[in-house]
Amino acid sequence: MAKRVSIFGATGSVGRSTVELVGAKPEAFAVEAVTGGRNVALLCEQAKRLRAQAAVIADESLYGELRDGLAGSGVVPAAGAEGLREAASRPAEWSMFAIVGTACLAPALEAVARGGCIAMANKECLVAAGRLFMETAKASGAVLLPVDSEHNAIFQLFKPEQAGEVEEVVLTASGGPFLGWEKEALREVSPEQAARHPNWSMGAKISIDSATLMNKGLELVEARWLFEEVRDKFRVVIHPQSIVHALVGWRDGSLLAYLSAPDMRVPIAHALSTVSPAVKRLDVAAVGRLDFAPAEEAAYPALGLARRVLERDDGAATLLNAANEEAVAAFLGGRIGFLDIVPLVGAVLDAGVSESAVSPGTLEEA
Ligand code: NAD
Ligand code: MG
Repeated sequence: MAKRVSIFGATGSVGRSTVELVGAKPEAFAVEAVTGGRNVALLCEQAKRLRAQAAVIADESLYGELRDGLAGSGVVPAAGAEGLREAASRPAEWSMFAIVGTACLAPALEAVARGGCIAMANKECLVAAGRLFMETAKASGAVLLPVDSEHNAIFQLFKPEQAGEVEEVVLTASGGPFLGWEKEALREVSPEQAARHPNWSMGAKISIDSATLMNKGLELVEARWLFEEVRDKFRVVIHPQSIVHALVGWRDGSLLAYLSAPDMRVPIAHALSTVSPAVKRLDVAAVGRLDFAPAEEAAYPALGLARRVLERDDGAATLLNAANEEAVAAFLGGRIGFLDIVPLVGAVLDAGVSESAVSPGTLEEA
């Protein structure tokens, strides 16, 4: 029996890799829905190639174009927030959530409430509304499969029942394109420079987050929800090669590491219980060396902001995520400089964290 799957954010970086893996085994997968933000041409091509039941474009003004592009294909077109919600309510056994940012919240939560396997590439949902997600999954029996490479590695390195033996969990950070740069030199960097990650090919938002290290801050919050049983044991280490994705330190003094090429098809394939025919196993002799360095919070203030949020365990993470999303959009739009991003997020946290801030209990609050 073919597994019924849906891909949210199919036209993006993670989405395209997921489409490639699903498309490589047409007999194994029956596609319910694919969604995209604005790229109608690619979405139409993907929907037809995968013989999807439905295709949804998030930008409603593009509905006519989508309908025309799908004419005669049998794929049902839809658009907007309602279209996304309807797609999430389809009976997929496995869904990939690779829409960037908080736009992913409503459809992902809908799917989590329905149950099934939820492959979470998007990290902003868990940062903004982790408790709501985890409680909804618990109630519905949905299984959350981490796709973020570090979290997917941790997921494979230990099982929850071994948590008592685990003393530390290390998330690696590449340091982004500006590792080793003097602060002054960062003042004038362009969005194009900041988005050019040395190891990974990713969408614009996460690439900027990687350059500020806010990506790792968001990942600390993401990890806290996915691996509740070791929530106080996370540490960040700089590892410029992005080959070791996570390490688990055990009570007996040993460390287990997870290594792979920096290629998202590896964790996506793991979450999909398939293998990528295109991915080659690493040759460690060819890699030659692996470097590690401490990630000082003084040098990377985004990590400090994430720690602050983690200590509070309230609505501050929602604020951190929202402020960062706006600040990155402002940088990409040329309205603020690269060095303004993290201080701006910090200022919003300072202004907004009141004693009454609570972790969101509903989607509307988030
Ligand atoms: P991307 O920008 O390449 O793709 C984003 C997808 O979301 C596209 O399909 C886009 O059309 C869609 N989209 C954008 N705005 C939308 C909106 N308002 N409504 C509906 N759809 C919208 O991003 P990406 O690099 O593939 O990352 C996707 C998510 O996965 C992010 O949350 C990111 O943090 C996470 N992630 C990505 C990687 C990676 O290697 N790219 C690794 C780990 C985690
Ligand atoms: Mg990651």
